[in-house]
Amino acid sequence: MRASRGPATCRGHSRLGPGTDFPYNAGGMISGREPIPPMPDPTRELARLERQVIACTRCARLLNYCRKVAIEKRRMYRDREYWGRPLPGFGDPQAQLLILGLAPAAHGGNRTGRMFTGDRSGDFLYRGLYESGFASQPTSVERGDGQRLRDCYITAALRCAPPLNKPLPPELRNCQPYLERELELLRRVRAVLALGRIAFDAYLRVLAERGGFPRRSTFRFAHGATFALPDGLPRLFCSYHPSQQNTQTGRLTRAMFQQVLQDIRSFLEGERVAPPGP
Ligand code: SF4
Repeated sequence: MRASRGPATCRGHSRLGPGTDFPYNAGGMISGREPIPPMPDPTRELARLERQVIACTRCARLLNYCRKVAIEKRRMYRDREYWGRPLPGFGDPQAQLLILGLAPAAHGGNRTGRMFTGDRSGDFLYRGLYESGFASQPTSVERGDGQRLRDCYITAALRCAPPLNKPLPPELRNCQPYLERELELLRRVRAVLALGRIAFDAYLRVLAERGGFPRRSTFRFAHGATFALPDGLPRLFCSYHPSQQNTQTGRLTRAMFQQVLQDIRSFLEGERVAPPGP
């Protein structure tokens, strides 16, 4: 079943503090306050959110780690200035596809300041996006390299690089309002691609907190799985995370990843997506 168009928003108002109240619910309807305000410009609001994310100080452990990595640096990047701060999302404010990763890599996003940029995971991801028409270039090297996403927006469950790529549950909780806010603002999203189980769980947690959502046990993460969600929510697609651990061992191949992107492309263009499994 094809999911109908509609944004996934969290229940109630934004949890990002004063000045960010956003009284629209999942259907784009007003949730009780009058008079009806004009819909905010998503590009401007995303830029505002970007500034908030970059300035975030909620997770001391992660901020300390990101700064430490940025000071010590990897030998091959010792002449480069590291970003060393939280990373905002990246992409097309009018995107129909939202890609949700785990977190920036210590010497990838945490170095370059852009999601999935400057590391092997990003090389794998952006090549796939380019080959399926969602990216303007097959590589993503650094901010300002000319890369542009088309109809696609990339974000992560956590916006600071965690030590050993292992976030703590309270850190994921701290970062969740930023994802909720992106889901509010990216109003054209019709497909969400979760890269890995942690991203999958983070997305379902946001939806579950809206209330009236099916039990978590209804959804089992598997590479290539897709789920038509209720209430006109975007269709959920799953892929293994393009970590080096997965791509170098063959757990995730280019062909496997391209098939997921092709399924998404077909869905967005109106074709039926084959059910997963044998
Ligand atoms: S992980 Fe998220 S909530 Fe924590 S400091 Fe970074 S941006 Fe802020």
